Amino acid sequence: EAKNAGRGVAKYFSSELQSEQEDRVRLESDLRAAIASKQFHLLYQPLVSAKDQKLIGFEALIRWNHPTRGLVPPPVFIPIAEECGLMMEIGQWVIEEACRTVANWPEPITVAVNVSPKQIQMPSLPQLVSQALARHKVPGNRLELEVTEGIFLGNNSATLDIMQRLRQLGVGIALDDFGTGYSSIGYLNKAVFHKLKIDGSFVREAGTREENVAIIKSIVQLAKSFRMSVTAEGVETAEDFERMRDLGVDTIQGYLFGRPLSYERANQMVMGMSRKSA
Ligand code: C2E
Ligand code: MG
Ligand code: MG
Ligand code: MG
Repeated sequence: EAKNAGRGVAKYFSSELQSEQEDRVRLESDLRAAIASKQFHLLYQPLVSAKDQKLIGFEALIRWNHPTRGLVPPPVFIPIAEECGLMMEIGQWVIEEACRTVANWPEPITVAVNVSPKQIQMPSLPQLVSQALARHKVPGNRLELEVTEGIFLGNNSATLDIMQRLRQLGVGIALDDFGTGYSSIGYLNKAVFHKLKIDGSFVREAGTREENVAIIKSIVQLAKSFRMSVTAEGVETAEDFERMRDLGVDTIQGYLFGRPLSYERANQMVMGMSRKSA
């Protein structure tokens, strides 16, 4: 057998693939247990207004604290959850938790949650969101959903209809990671988005790549013409901040103004803010 090198290579690859496959199967079954055993939590990253750097809200970001692996990053487990049909359940937990949190915070602080493509395509989503809002006595305008451009690869008219129903609850919908994916300006015209979030990679590269400044300028113009607000993600330095503010971006998010924080730390930030304004 050893004299056939080709076979050895094939065998090597197939056993590597096999262990990757096994790893995935394990993660999948661990994911099924994770909700019930409370292995998820949310972190809250601050968003500030570009004009006066005032806190206006937070983006909730999920964390999975796996019993043996430690923290598993969302880009690793979210796709698995999507494929094995667990995303609705996890996503619903996120919405519930975000509503519980924002109910404790003063107006006009908002909390944004990320919603996966499969989740936004569920016709039951508006009703589930509306029930979560009611349970925590939160008006719809305190909650935002963030979706990525990938949602437009599915059944568009059904998805647009679901988004319209969410907007009727007062819930905001932001188009996340704008500029990195399948961007179709046509969808901006449907009045379902209240906000565009410019991907952090553009924001950070704008310092060294002049063409990114031009792209951001045109994204801001586009957003304004559709009456959407614009958030710059991934703002890490004072230069990034000033550049984005001067380009007309409304809201800033990034390590410069805060990393994703525990509920307790985020709460301190909110309470500090209301003491100052009182
Ligand atoms: P996203 O929604 O675009 O979230 C922003 C990501 O950028 C977060 O990564 C955040 O920690 C990171 N970030 C924020 N500021 C900075 C910065 O200044 N510099 C850099 N380098 N990074 C920054 P995170 O928390 O690992 O989340 C990654 C992605 O996972 C999110 O991207 C979102 O697409 C997804 N995700 C997170 N939570 C959820 C969730 O509850 N549900 C769903 N469906 N997806 C989620
Ligand atoms: Mg997001
Ligand atoms: Mg983003
Ligand atoms: Mg992202």
